[in-house]
Amino acid sequence: MNRAVSSLLTRHAARLGSLCTSSSSSPASEAWDGRFRLHKPRGQHLLTNPRILDAIVRHAALRPGDAVLEVGPGTGNLTARLLASPVHHVTAVEIDTRMVEAVTARAAALDLAQKLTVIQDDAVEADFPEFDVCVANIPYGISSPLIAKLLFGAYRFRTATLLLQKEFAQRLVAVPGDSEYNRLAANVRMVADVKLLMDVSKRDFVPMPRVDSSLVEIRPRAAMPDVDLAEWLAFTRECFGQKNKTLGAIFKQKRKVLDLFKRSQRAERCTGDATGSGIILGVLDDGDHEACSDEDDSSDRVAGFSEEEVGAFKERIASALDSSELAGKRPTKMSNDELLRLLRLFNERGIRFQ
Ligand code: SAH
Repeated sequence: MNRAVSSLLTRHAARLGSLCTSSSSSPASEAWDGRFRLHKPRGQHLLTNPRILDAIVRHAALRPGDAVLEVGPGTGNLTARLLASPVHHVTAVEIDTRMVEAVTARAAALDLAQKLTVIQDDAVEADFPEFDVCVANIPYGISSPLIAKLLFGAYRFRTATLLLQKEFAQRLVAVPGDSEYNRLAANVRMVADVKLLMDVSKRDFVPMPRVDSSLVEIRPRAAMPDVDLAEWLAFTRECFGQKNKTLGAIFKQKRKVLDLFKRSQRAERCTGDATGSGIILGVLDDGDHEACSDEDDSSDRVAGFSEEEVGAFKERIASALDSSELAGKRPTKMSNDELLRLLRLFNERGIRFQ
């Protein structure tokens, strides 16, 4: 580290010292001293209630030797506790240089700098190092792409204990039949178990956000389902795009049939290529896509294919739906096993979603 940076950090450490080295049970250690402006669009709401911070670390059930990943450490209110626990190491990914400085200084003031690596980057873009657990009060704006990255990226970890916007958390833990059940929940449940741990009031943050929060545990399943995940994600996008329709109604629409026909033709041409298009981050959520209409539109004609071929394709869709006996059901009321059964019936008939 060059001398200028190091002296800056030491000065910061001295200034933060009175705040940070005081017992972590003292609320003052989490107080915000206003040394720079917090940006709401970046989700900069610091969690300042020490009881809640302690509870998060307790719920994370950290083990000695764990490598911890934290996203958006801010000034280090949670980081300080993670560092003080018996874990082996903490890596914190933070986008704002001012926060990077603040959390680095805080670790130094606690004499725990050797346990902390701070990566200054956008957590959605950055490559994470290997980690055992992720513990974080994340910026809520990146909840969906971050969870997609954790669960559908190449990471292997025990649990992610995340503080999320309460409404988002409720959608995440919803089960089929709940009014909030949605694509996000179906996709996450495909690869992980999800549990609501506790609610956290907006009053526990500085500055106070408009929304309350909930702590959630996401635990990746030990055995991954036997399914092409990119195909599954593309399939749930179709099902939940118009979630109040029955599957029969969704897959009867002319535009949808033509769209799937084109995709299936493309997939057939590309068989043998490496594993499809891969997982696109941020694809877990409903991403309200345009409603398909039944209107006849000659521009939808598929170049190079006859009406008969498209007609036969439509028959294949109908046959998959018939043999599933699920045509009358709505996706929001279906279990993943049922959805997966239908996807297999489609795929067996050469109907592809990617
Ligand atoms: N965890 C801290 C701070 C939460 S505020 C606490 O509980 O007090 C959210 C933090 O995430 C801020 O420090 C903000 O700068 C950071 N952040 C926002 N967007 C980010 C991104 N895309 N990648 C990494 N960090 C981000």
